[in-house]
Amino acid sequence: MSQPRFRTLPHQITCIDTEYQRPGLAACYLIESEGEAAFIDTGTSNTVPMLLSVLEARGVAPEQVKYVIPTHVHLDHAGGVGALMQQFPNARLVIHPYGARHMIDPSKLEAGATAVYGEEKFQADFGSLIPVDESRVIEAPDGYRVQLGSRELLCIDTPGHARHHICIYDEQSRGIFTGDTFGLSYREFDTEKGPFLLATSTPIQFDPDAWHETLDRLMGLSPEVIYLTHYCEVRKPELLVKQLRESLNQFTATALAADAEPGKARTAQIRAGLFKWLQEALQKHGCSQIPQEIEQLMSMDMELDAQGLEVWLQKREEAAAEAKT
Ligand SMILES: [Zn+2]
Repeated sequence: MSQPRFRTLPHQITCIDTEYQRPGLAACYLIESEGEAAFIDTGTSNTVPMLLSVLEARGVAPEQVKYVIPTHVHLDHAGGVGALMQQFPNARLVIHPYGARHMIDPSKLEAGATAVYGEEKFQADFGSLIPVDESRVIEAPDGYRVQLGSRELLCIDTPGHARHHICIYDEQSRGIFTGDTFGLSYREFDTEKGPFLLATSTPIQFDPDAWHETLDRLMGLSPEVIYLTHYCEVRKPELLVKQLRESLNQFTATALAADAEPGKARTAQIRAGLFKWLQEALQKHGCSQIPQEIEQLMSMDMELDAQGLEVWLQKREEAAAEAKT
């Protein structure tokens, strides 16, 4: 195992690189309070040894971990949940009610992810998913509060990226752990204009209208900091949210402009449209990467985004056909 890469943030929060795909792509977080600890998101089962060594570095024993809280069940966030729970005898799993059954029986999740990533990539990236005993699972509806030492974590139901998504508001830092709900912002694209943010429409529950409403709710909490999974913290969310909304609108416009029949050709057309928009937007933001570098950094995201938009279009078409009958 390579040395874990982590950053100690204020308010007893540690941002840990899960080393999924490449450094700087996906983070998870350790929060501490008065001898108790919680993880928000976990990375994959390959991340588990790293998380254990970060705990050791922080002087936290596995018995002190009280909660494991995946923001949603997509595997770059929750693939390691089962393996991690095996290490923490006193931990409970806190998860959106729609996500709970997939942690207790991950077979559907495994089948869905294999369809998206392909068998070979699934095995290499995620291995096998370990079920979590039902007695250890807490379903967290909107407004559910987790008490960790002297701090309170508020779970918020946040559809848009996925229906099984919660964000976690931490009053102490006035920060929100947003999983994918505040989009992606890779540090490679930071310029003097600040971070660059964009949406992520991973299959299969992308819902742009719900997402805009979710952003209204999150901004209603007047957060000072956003803890992203992809990647690490960004500040002044009131300025960044405009970029995120703009990217949501661009995503749907790109999908609606693709005129081919449903299927691979249309997905490829959407993917090309997203890349064209992204190259231009990054250039405007003052980024110095050449197109090939952007392609390399973003190719997996853009492929998943295009697949998710294709699913979104198909659902719209099905709903429109149903409305006619
Ligand atoms: Zn996701």
